[in-house]
Amino acid sequence: MNTNYDVIMIGAGAAGLHCAWQAAARGLRVLLLDHAKQAGKKILISGGGRCNFTNLYASPENYLSENPHFCKSALSRYTQWDFIALVEKHGIAYHEKTLGQLFCDDSAKAIVRMLLDECAAYGARVQLRTEITKVVWQDQRYTVSTSQGEYSAPQLVVACGGLSMPKLGATPLGYQLAEQFGHTVLPVRAGLVPFTLHERDKEAYSELSGLALDVTAQNDRASFKEAMLFTHRGLSGPAMLQISSYWLPGETFTVDLLPQLDSLAELQRLRAERPKLGLRSVLQQWFPKRFAQTFAEQQQWPDKNLADCSNALLESVATKLHAWPVKPNGTEGYRTAEVTLGGVDTDQLSSKTMASKHQSGLYFIGEVVDVTGWLGGYNFQWAWASAHACAEALTST
Ligand code: FAD
Repeated sequence: MNTNYDVIMIGAGAAGLHCAWQAAARGLRVLLLDHAKQAGKKILISGGGRCNFTNLYASPENYLSENPHFCKSALSRYTQWDFIALVEKHGIAYHEKTLGQLFCDDSAKAIVRMLLDECAAYGARVQLRTEITKVVWQDQRYTVSTSQGEYSAPQLVVACGGLSMPKLGATPLGYQLAEQFGHTVLPVRAGLVPFTLHERDKEAYSELSGLALDVTAQNDRASFKEAMLFTHRGLSGPAMLQISSYWLPGETFTVDLLPQLDSLAELQRLRAERPKLGLRSVLQQWFPKRFAQTFAEQQQWPDKNLADCSNALLESVATKLHAWPVKPNGTEGYRTAEVTLGGVDTDQLSSKTMASKHQSGLYFIGEVVDVTGWLGGYNFQWAWASAHACAEALTST
């Protein structure tokens, strides 16, 4: 049994890597274990391979949690500016794409390289290809049995992430460890995930696959003005991924297809000024032709001149354009979800340190915790910030 460590961390993803080097920088002997062949696999594929590593405007309002206050302390003590400073120290070129989202100019590999270099610089040991078979708490120490042998330390950091993308190595180990040590795990579900549509809608709209519109998606809990993308199976694009985190099965949300226009006022103006203009021609001025045709057919709007359109008809057209009700069949699930909502209940964790309130030396960081960010670099910022809070609290023995 190897007992040379102050802390064992499980999960060499965003949170685990960032915590490992910072704890080592404070003089702790750190062992970071992962079953994968490669560290930071999600970082590598994130942001289309360029890693949207933080957001200029990250703040607690961009996170979902049973306790919306929990994330405040960690986010305020390790901000986007702290991570940007680290990225700049490593000479990684980056740019703002949109809405404060910062991406690497070249490749997400640079972020993983940076974290591994920091681990190496401070002597944090990163051990991959290591299956965890058992974790036991005895004599004030955690003994972790693995495919590579047994390790023991007085502190254990669980950074195993959520369930999204099992192909990249996601497993429920973090939740299982939480339950093993008496923590409540709040119900989990896929977030930031494309929707699938019911058969009838799928048939109607699948021919629009690949077409994107700038929309506002909203329900009574949230509203997002971003792009929506039609797919073969349903709806995707940033607006849909964002609202998916606020959607529950069976619910309907609405899509404003023309958020920048008062379409009723515009239709009435056109009817007065150009009465011979056809209703469907107007729609083709506002939308790509393919969409205008399909949508008008689905809504069974008549192919009439505006002069022949009643006020009631124009009002119902405008209502549908600004509040198209969408009732998804479901989502694409963990296979394509970017995050897992829910997880380790924050009630039993310290918001300052991420430590368990009842189990000595046990910490949970990153996505395994019930804190989930919006699309746009917020999830990595939570991983960095929660990792920092934990690293500051760990002690050498
Ligand atoms: P992870 O990064 O998932 O790391 C968990 C680690 O634990 C993994 O290395 C895994 O191998 C290991 N592990 C799991 N189970 C076991 C086990 N049983 N034994 C040993 N090790 C185990 N967020 C953003 O902010 N910006 C983006 O651009 C972005 N893009 C994304 C794109 C995709 C396709 C996906 C899926 C997610 C994206 N995210 C993005 C979300 C972000 O990747 C996660 O929120 C973040 O990686 C969570 O960090 P974490 O360290 O908690 O978990």
